[in-house]
Amino acid sequence: MLRTIWRMAIFGSMKTSKKRRGLFWGSGLLVLYVLVRFMPLYKPAPAIPFEGPYWYNPYENVSSEGKWLRANFHAHSNAWGFVTSGRKNTVDDMLCKYDSLGYDIIGISDYQHITEMSCRLYIPVYEHGYNVMKTHQGVIGARKVYWNDYILPQTRSQKQHVLKKLKEHSRLVALHHPAWMGGYSKKDMCRLTGHDLFEVLNDFWVSEGLWDVALSAGRPAMLLAGDDAHNVFKPTDIARDFTMIFVGNSGSSMESPEAVYRALESGAAYGVEVTERLAHSSVSRKREGLDSLPLLQSCRVCDDSLVVVLSGSALCFSFIGQDGLLLKRVSGETGSDNSAISSSELGSSTFGSSSASAFYKLRPEDHYVRVKITLVDSSHIYLNPVMRTKEKDVKPQMPPIKKRRLFTIFDA
Ligand SMILES: [Zn+2]
Repeated sequence: MLRTIWRMAIFGSMKTSKKRRGLFWGSGLLVLYVLVRFMPLYKPAPAIPFEGPYWYNPYENVSSEGKWLRANFHAHSNAWGFVTSGRKNTVDDMLCKYDSLGYDIIGISDYQHITEMSCRLYIPVYEHGYNVMKTHQGVIGARKVYWNDYILPQTRSQKQHVLKKLKEHSRLVALHHPAWMGGYSKKDMCRLTGHDLFEVLNDFWVSEGLWDVALSAGRPAMLLAGDDAHNVFKPTDIARDFTMIFVGNSGSSMESPEAVYRALESGAAYGVEVTERLAHSSVSRKREGLDSLPLLQSCRVCDDSLVVVLSGSALCFSFIGQDGLLLKRVSGETGSDNSAISSSELGSSTFGSSSASAFYKLRPEDHYVRVKITLVDSSHIYLNPVMRTKEKDVKPQMPPIKKRRLFTIFDA
């Protein structure tokens, strides 16, 4: 009898310990699964400056015959009622205001919502992100909303994961107001990859310095400028920052969403930041002001010189390079620097007497050079950079996104 009790006790405890062990391993695996799902793991993409024997010029095909479209991809409507700001704007109000201001593309980027509308050139967009640090993304050419986000301050791998997922359901992914509230850090710029665009100009925040960090790390993220408008009835909310997009010269067929995506991706676009004074004016005055701004007539790499020509006068051209360094400043109208060149020196009749132009002699040690132009009314134009590239006429590529092995176990 005693022996039977003894046996039962031993076997019983063995069964319990087996169960415990099973439970232990089971819950361990569950924790690991949850951790890996919520803590994605990606390898940091290396920071390597643009290099190669050629220059990639995003404005290679820009000429005075082509057409520039005025665009905004960042504005909020009343889609979420009182939950977010933007509650006063109906889609019709927004279309009406931006149309009066001469916009060709009116992007309504509601949070987590693709707002459909009927307009001449409809581009489906939305703003992704509902986390505390405002690590937001602009999704352009969006097919489907990606709902996942990480609410608390995000790890770099979480940011990388979101960028990767957004790209799976859209044409282009932009980092929105990246420097605002530390949404993206300098380190992020040297390790993240896979984004197409960089919202350098935003009504709330200018992220120019951070853009130079990204470009210096060899990330060919092209510029985007947007209002981030939340109230279209407030004059200073609209037409503060906008993107000009070059769509070639083949008539209206070029004005398609695909042509817009291609131009943004290749960099055939530039950003404009209008002055505070113009921002406060009425819609009609503002329209006049926007229409009178000079356009980019051409930007060429000729005999190792970067030559920029506008359709009107400018006060100053700044050439900026690796690590955001100012390489050269040229005073356009006053000619205080003899680098400003005349139409005759350029040897072309297309440059009228009112054109303002400047050039910079590209050096072997330059990895990229971008131009920031101060116009006569103190508005600014920000051009995309010319970048060193290994293949002729091919834009340098973003480094590939690479998962860490552990993260590949649960995530296909
Ligand atoms: Zn935002």
